[in-house]
Amino acid sequence: MADPTSTPRPRGVTTDGALSPAASGSPEQVLRAALAECQAAQEALRHDATHDALTGLPNRVLFLDRLAHAVERGRRHKEFRFAVLSLDLDRFKTVNDSLGVRVGDEVIVDHARRLEQCVRGEDMVARLSGDEFAILLESLADDADAGRVAERMLRSLSHPVDTREGTVFSTASIGIVLSSSGLEAGDDANVRLLQQASVAMSRAKAAGRGRYEMFDRGMQARAMARLRMETDLRTAVERGEFELYYQPMVQLESGRVTELEALLRWRHPTRGIVPPLDFIPLAEETGLIVPIGSWVLADACRQVREWQERFPREEPLTLSVNLSVKQIAQPDFVAHMVGIVRTSGLDPRCLKLEITESIAIDDPERTRGMLDELRGLGVRMYLDDFGTGYSSLGQLHRLSLDAIKIDRSFVMRMTEGPMHWQLVHTVRNLARNIGVTVIAEGVETAEQLAELRGLGCESAQGYLFSRPVPAGEMERMLERDPRW
Ligand code: C2E
Ligand code: CA
Ligand code: CA
Repeated sequence: MADPTSTPRPRGVTTDGALSPAASGSPEQVLRAALAECQAAQEALRHDATHDALTGLPNRVLFLDRLAHAVERGRRHKEFRFAVLSLDLDRFKTVNDSLGVRVGDEVIVDHARRLEQCVRGEDMVARLSGDEFAILLESLADDADAGRVAERMLRSLSHPVDTREGTVFSTASIGIVLSSSGLEAGDDANVRLLQQASVAMSRAKAAGRGRYEMFDRGMQARAMARLRMETDLRTAVERGEFELYYQPMVQLESGRVTELEALLRWRHPTRGIVPPLDFIPLAEETGLIVPIGSWVLADACRQVREWQERFPREEPLTLSVNLSVKQIAQPDFVAHMVGIVRTSGLDPRCLKLEITESIAIDDPERTRGMLDELRGLGVRMYLDDFGTGYSSLGQLHRLSLDAIKIDRSFVMRMTEGPMHWQLVHTVRNLARNIGVTVIAEGVETAEQLAELRGLGCESAQGYLFSRPVPAGEMERMLERDPRW
């Protein structure tokens, strides 16, 4: 990103780095002049080594050096308080990618100047890398000042920047760590403070960007746990630690198992079985859900194809697989899916994909196009967890869904009072009007099952029939072919 040609060249040094011819005179004069130039060159080199070429701000080296001094002073004088801020521009990569690096540089320089204006002379604003800045506030009267400076910075950076390509809007996220929260022992206390500020900054990003967060120790522990989980998750794919459990869906008219939902489990080497809600959000954030999701589809299709052959029926057993937003966002999503299903030999008409409202709402036109393409091959679409989002059935119907799965929070309370019963009843009627099938999730009691039958729901799933079970156990159930 830094443009080397904009580096201020030290006086006395020519473009090729050689010293310029010294003034003529007595040998002593010549020597003195040469020495002076040498010193100037050294000075310039030192400046370059400690400053960022693009903005002229101190760089990481100088910042950490200054921070080390602040730590020393803080250890000696309890009343000396300071704060470290880690600041990162939000979605800056988009600016670089869409408007070009030169415009990105303009924005960085402009923001650097604004940040300098938000602090006092004794404070330091440094540029650590691309769009990452660090600020050392040494002039804290009290800890709350740090928050006030952060707010001032956020406000200042939120004003648009005029660039050669037009106006650019950006926001930033800030993490703050206070010296009063405890200075650690050791030579690298400065490095640690900067890391803690950065952890708090990541929290600010996760909490919605354009804001600041104060560091606390719990944050560090959570960040570490998350990092460990992420590392483990990356290797889990290669080591084959994933396993699929299956849960039956029962057709209420016949009382038979007609369909299986594949549910992911992670057999962690030390933690044992990890439930999906403990790792899928992280897998989605890191993008790891894409390879994991491909594995789920391939393995489930292969398995159900095998069961179809072992337990032949008039209406073959069908499979339902959960999809994540991240998978649909892949440019080659449809082709990729089709490839996996073809390889498995499963008839695409036996496959259902469970999507959530967020998928449907993110980019409705594109989603619709892709779902239509898959539907053209016979794949059907289910809307998962219906009732937990905000969209109406009418909006969702534009995606031409085949079924909706009523979330278990409704089913659970259905037998508790008339309101929830009425809700399920209304959903059932609405669905019937638009020709969509209804599947009830989380059925745990015989009473709930009776109510659902009375309402005319087509299918149900829940612990009453079976919990999600490993493939071996599911196989025995298919063999028994139970009726409810
Ligand atoms: P979901 O798709 O709503 O799956 C149903 C969840 O409800 C399962 O939890 C299941 O064990 C649980 N459940 C089923 N019947 C009952 C019941 O009668 N009572 C109660 N209390 N719970 C019941 P599980 O397996 O922990 O999965 C949780 C979520 O993780 C799933 O919710 C789904 O959103 C996600 N998930 C699971 N596997 C995958 C996968 O392969 N890919 C993706 N993207 N998400 C998955
Ligand atoms: Ca599901
Ligand atoms: Ca569900």
